Amino acid sequence: GGSASASSIKQVKLERESELRIEVGNETPLKLRLLNGSAEIFGSELAPETWLTFPPRVKIAVFTWYGATIEMDDATETDYTADETPMVSYVNVHAVLEGRRNRAKASSPNDSEESQGPRVIVVGPTDSGKSTLSRMLLSWAAKQGWKPTFVDLDIGQGSITVPGCIAATPIELPIDPVEGIPLEMPLVYFYGHTTPSNNVDLYKTLVNELAQMLETQFARNAESRAAGMVINTMGWIEGTGYELLLHAIDTFKANVVLVLGQEKLFSMLKAVAKSKPNVDVVKLQKSGGVVSRNAKFRQKARGHRIREYFYGLGNDLSPHSNIANFSDLLVYRIGGGPQAPRSALPIGADPVSNPLRVTPVNVDRDLLHMVLAVSYAKEPDQILSSNVAGFIYITDIDIQRKKITYLAPSAGELPSKYLIMGTLTWLET
Ligand code: ATP
Repeated sequence: GGSASASSIKQVKLERESELRIEVGNETPLKLRLLNGSAEIFGSELAPETWLTFPPRVKIAVFTWYGATIEMDDATETDYTADETPMVSYVNVHAVLEGRRNRAKASSPNDSEESQGPRVIVVGPTDSGKSTLSRMLLSWAAKQGWKPTFVDLDIGQGSITVPGCIAATPIELPIDPVEGIPLEMPLVYFYGHTTPSNNVDLYKTLVNELAQMLETQFARNAESRAAGMVINTMGWIEGTGYELLLHAIDTFKANVVLVLGQEKLFSMLKAVAKSKPNVDVVKLQKSGGVVSRNAKFRQKARGHRIREYFYGLGNDLSPHSNIANFSDLLVYRIGGGPQAPRSALPIGADPVSNPLRVTPVNVDRDLLHMVLAVSYAKEPDQILSSNVAGFIYITDIDIQRKKITYLAPSAGELPSKYLIMGTLTWLET
């Protein structure tokens, strides 16, 4: 929609197989359109002559296979054209996956091995372009009519819902270059922290739950089984991070491992795969366009992501402020928390805590500014294995009147009274 004032518009002519890399400024949105030719943003084709508005801080590349002219206003931090990209190697991977999907579709649905499409996992260090490659592979598949499942295991910078979650959702259309992944009915598990080291056992448990749930869905749905899945992972690839990658590969029965931009990780995974004849490990070049984001930027991005959950990308949602009695909401925590100091324990006892223990939390000022998940559990002992309906944000705690004020996506009663607390906080700005 919309138009842009003619004065500030500039045109960029792109040669075949080149891309325009843009970092939108911190304050003003960017307007951009395809004037002629054909172009795509991370695998999703641009409609001709239609103005798109990108929010501040977004980083994108407009890529063309055959040449294009792009028009945009001047709200960019940087923009430049690059004719060296790894796009040909990426689309070659897509072509191989496409072949496997077709083979899966053509085989008997009763043959659970043969009718399973590719299960792709994308791994690599932070800022190697994992999310972007996942997105391209999904959009290219969706463009050809498949409905692949996107699995996002990145609790730090996830692209399906708020940070601190692992989630999955079917991708039925190429991913909108502005809106991102559609939020309809994702399958979400709340981990509650933005790094896996807070509770590695919990992270693994939730990965297992998600994988099992998808396995059940695939068993009933030949179409989505043939389309397969694309799994995005965290950039944590050393030590425990590496262990968690192996755990994810096994748990989701990944059969294609795409390694972006790191020789060492590639050779380690290649060695592991020697004992797994069905797993292909493929090394891919990192795009020179991937923008590095420091800890502060990531922290901010998490805040924006939470804001977007409640208010929408363009402030188009109206969350509702609700007031409840302390006794109406049952808040639980999984594992962690302050442990008894060694000095308080009997001599010889270890201060071990059960990382998977679900314990009730007393409502007090500590809950202020917390983002809590609303569990689908019907009993407390189901909390660990249940996915979540959504999130609330605690905006006020009145100790005297025992009232809690929270923001929810909509008015009315919460789908469940069981809430899960982690360490995810947000300061509304
Ligand atoms: P992390 O592990 O930290 O989540 P990642 O490996 O998933 O990172 P991406 O999120 O894919 O990395 O990329 C980092 C940033 O670079 C994103 O903002 C993305 O939009 C941008 N980006 C990726 N490729 C390009 C490109 N070719 N041109 C411009 N920007 C790009």
